[in-house]
Amino acid sequence: MRPGILEIFHDEHRQIRPEAALPELKVEFFAFANLNNTIRLRQGRLLVRLSDLLEGAPEPVVRAIAHILLAKMYRKPIDRGRAARYRKYVGSHQVVHQAHLVRQMRGRKRLHSPQGRVYDLDAIFEDLNRRFFHGLMGRPRMSWSPSKTRRILGHYDPAHNAIVISRIFDHPAIPRYALDYIVYHEMLHLKHPVRLRGSRRCVHSAEFQAEEKLFPEWERAEGFLKKL
Ligand SMILES: [Zn+2]
Repeated sequence: MRPGILEIFHDEHRQIRPEAALPELKVEFFAFANLNNTIRLRQGRLLVRLSDLLEGAPEPVVRAIAHILLAKMYRKPIDRGRAARYRKYVGSHQVVHQAHLVRQMRGRKRLHSPQGRVYDLDAIFEDLNRRFFHGLMGRPRMSWSPSKTRRILGHYDPAHNAIVISRIFDHPAIPRYALDYIVYHEMLHLKHPVRLRGSRRCVHSAEFQAEEKLFPEWERAEGFLKKL
């Protein structure tokens, strides 16, 4: 019989922390548009949220994601084979998922290609995903803006699960770190969905802003954008 998801998480927890007692565990599936998976420890209780796109995933994939999340949580090394297995599954399913999104979007929002004259936004997303997010973020539709707008440098559109970056950045005079920084900012919007706090929309929470400053060239990038 196929082991249940809680059993899988317990197994993987035992492998990562053989000496520790098993915490109480809750696993929920969520309809994330973008294959996000999260784990947090609250009052001795582990809360895991998985994208519902993983609901029908084969056992080795569920084991891989359990391992990745627990390793991340306890700051243990992530097994390369496991990481690769997860990426492979997400890669093939993302294609199907995106095809579905594209059908939904047809006639509603026109998106341009991620491949610009100088920079490929898909490649930039995947590079940042590996460097800063353990490769765990599902790639939304990446698109250059139709015109060279300076008013909005980038935005994440949750309704269409799309990141749109101003075309002014697709230029050889634009340093890679500045573009990386803009895309990194939009990726943080994926990670920190907009919450309602009272009646005020909190777009850049304190958590968001703290994480933004983790970008290694944060100051240099901010300086460059001010001059732009
Ligand atoms: Zn923002």
